[in-house]
Amino acid sequence: MQRIVVLAGGIGGARFLRGLTSAAPDADVTVIGNTGDDIHLFGLKVCPDLDTVMYTLGGGIHEEQGWGRADESFAVKEELAAYGVGPEWFGLGDRDFATHIVRTQMLAAGYPLSAVTEALCERWKPGVRLLPMSDDRVETHVMIDDPDGTEGSGARKAVHFQEYWVRLRASVPAHAIIPVGAEQAKPAPGVLEAISAADVILFPPSNPVVSVGTILSVPGIREAVAAADAPVVGLSPIVGDAPVRGMADKVLAAVGVESTASAVARHYGSDLIDGWLVDTVDAARTAEVEAAGIRCRAVPLMMTDVPATAAMAAEALALAEEVRGR
Ligand code: GDP
Ligand code: CA
Repeated sequence: MQRIVVLAGGIGGARFLRGLTSAAPDADVTVIGNTGDDIHLFGLKVCPDLDTVMYTLGGGIHEEQGWGRADESFAVKEELAAYGVGPEWFGLGDRDFATHIVRTQMLAAGYPLSAVTEALCERWKPGVRLLPMSDDRVETHVMIDDPDGTEGSGARKAVHFQEYWVRLRASVPAHAIIPVGAEQAKPAPGVLEAISAADVILFPPSNPVVSVGTILSVPGIREAVAAADAPVVGLSPIVGDAPVRGMADKVLAAVGVESTASAVARHYGSDLIDGWLVDTVDAARTAEVEAAGIRCRAVPLMMTDVPATAAMAAEALALAEEVRGR
């Protein structure tokens, strides 16, 4: 059985995984999920990216939105607001709340996040093994100008990634992206083992900075991917010099990377990835990627539906075979 490891963020990762499991139904897929987006709200531990993967593959996702539950209601949120208890900018629905309550209860009882995630997946049966990147707390923070600082003082402050992304809609300049706690974090049980035993490692079209980049910032994970025998192939989240959805261009700028399909490939580098897929509209950029020592193909990369996404996954697996042993 082919063992595939995927380093995934939220929506881009989850949608890609649905195509991958359709293209390779018999493969043994391990997902290493980003937990840098995790946030404590109302005393509850919320893991947006793990949940997006779990709900999407388990059939509980709000399809159009791409995150949160289908058939959701917001009674709890309204009641909290009536007490003046926020934040009001983070959308937690009633069904979704139950997931966070179960998770928080299990964590308080002493179970590590990896065990909690496994327990939640017993209900959702995502058809993949979903591992958090780490059981240790890692929280992505974004350095922005301090709006309360004196004009021209250059004062800056760090805000939680969700505050920057959801509340501020990435509308203010990001000066740095910091995965707080990553240096001390250890990969969750099974993560390094899955990487070293993999036949293929894939980077889905997830955010290269705050999703895949955060996973790679956990000491040992980048090194394991670079040292793996398996071919490593990525798919560009940037199509036509812009993110397909979201604001990845803002966080790429914060780390000094242009928003092009080839710049993202070069950002990962040939130490890490062997192959890279760009969309057909970016076909002219394949030469730039190949010049960096990364095999590159231009294929359709829009995840419009499951068959189109499955075709992307099949292309990634074919490119992995092409670069195997390089
Ligand atoms: P998040 O955690 O929910 O932000 O999701 P990810 O990090 O997994 O993925 C976000 C990235 O997915 C964004 O940068 C988008 O550009 C990319 N993305 C979303 N839909 C598509 C698509 O249909 N095709 C491609 N190539 N990228 C996509
Ligand atoms: Ca995310």
